[in-house]
Amino acid sequence: MTEIVVVGAGVVGLAVAEELARSGREVLVLERDRVGETCAASVAAGMLAPAAEADATPHTTTVLALWSHGMYPEWVARLEATSGIDMEFDRSGTVVAALDADDLRELVHLERAQRRFGSESRRLSAEEARELQPSLGPGVVGGLLLSGDWQVNPRRLLQALRRSLELEGGRVFEGAAVQALERRDGAWRLVVQGSRTLKATMVVLAAGAWTASLVPPDLPKPPVRPVRGAALRLGGGLATPVVVRTPRVYVVPRASGETVVGATVEERGWEAEPLAGAVYELLKESRRALPCVDEMPLREVGVGFRPAIRDGVPAVGPLDGDRTLFVATGHYRKGIELAPLTAALVRALVEGREHPLAASVDPRRFGAQGEP
Ligand SMILES: Cc1cc2nc3c(=O)[nH]c(=O)nc-3n(C[C@H](O)[C@H](O)[C@H](O)COP(=O)(O)OP(=O)(O)OC[C@H]3O[C@@H](n4cnc5c(N)ncnc54)[C@H](O)[C@@H]3O)c2cc1C
Repeated sequence: MTEIVVVGAGVVGLAVAEELARSGREVLVLERDRVGETCAASVAAGMLAPAAEADATPHTTTVLALWSHGMYPEWVARLEATSGIDMEFDRSGTVVAALDADDLRELVHLERAQRRFGSESRRLSAEEARELQPSLGPGVVGGLLLSGDWQVNPRRLLQALRRSLELEGGRVFEGAAVQALERRDGAWRLVVQGSRTLKATMVVLAAGAWTASLVPPDLPKPPVRPVRGAALRLGGGLATPVVVRTPRVYVVPRASGETVVGATVEERGWEAEPLAGAVYELLKESRRALPCVDEMPLREVGVGFRPAIRDGVPAVGPLDGDRTLFVATGHYRKGIELAPLTAALVRALVEGREHPLAASVDPRRFGAQGEP
């Protein structure tokens, strides 16, 4: 019998597993595919921008993001030291570039939202914006500097989490799709594809947008659904590591020399094929701000499924009264940002401790059938 099985090796599952292994627990992660193959983090830009969409995000989620943001520097330093993997964590900041009068007006709202949450921001003239990011083109008419908005490379984060987990004695089984879960004789029995059955004292379901299908029928099901996102990877960097956003697109230059352009938000269920129109829009909008995009090779068009819950707040915590079955899902557009907090929350709850944010992410806030 394994002490804790985590289902899903996305950023959330790996972060939770690593934290539990670090606390001395025996942890096994079951991943349906290979780590990084299907999870949203492989496509994600890795922006750490807690109040970036504060006007369109539930207040609770912004509060969670700010809390997790505060944990990031120490979390990254620890994972890099343990794993020896450089996660390209960069704190150069983000310039929100305005390309017309409408964009300039939008900066006013963004600035207010930042101030409301105590995040630093400074208005920039077009020249000041170009000083910070010389790749910005002549179409830029002004900007806003968000010096507290950072970035990390999510693919490297996955590698660092996996390595740290394994160094702590945790294990990852790939190609291990969990098909069913049932409680029998005081333990959880997990039916894994290929007719293997595993037993565990505790289970954490962190299967992203697939999580709801794994919840046993007698327990509350968080109403999580996939919201598709497409992002592009271009070869080549920008003049500086400063991230560029406009109201329609973001461009994230990595130290390793690639640039990520994102992202679409599409309600298309599980359809995985990217649309030509989406690629066109991302390229069109990014080159308006950064003409150098034209000269970069298009290396990859990636599609990921963000796990979204209808109230916009993640679902993290126990589903049963005995605290043996947990979920950690619904991180939507902020799963990279929220990973350290989610790991700490699950650890606290597994240890029977309270956490000041636990009530706000209680997965049982929806009715038995996932209705609020
Ligand atoms: C284009 C795009 C850009 C993004 N940009 C950002 C960003 O800049 N900043 C940010 O913070 N967030 C961003 N996100 C959001 C972030 O990537 C997600 O919130 C996060 O990755 C979700 O992680 P997860 O581990 O919950 O789920 P997932 O990534 O979906 O991982 C779930 C894992 O579970 C596995 N699995 C599923 N079913 C089973 C099963 N039955 N048995 C075993 N394993 C199973 C899957 O194979 C998968 O590996 C972005 C997302 C997208 C798509």
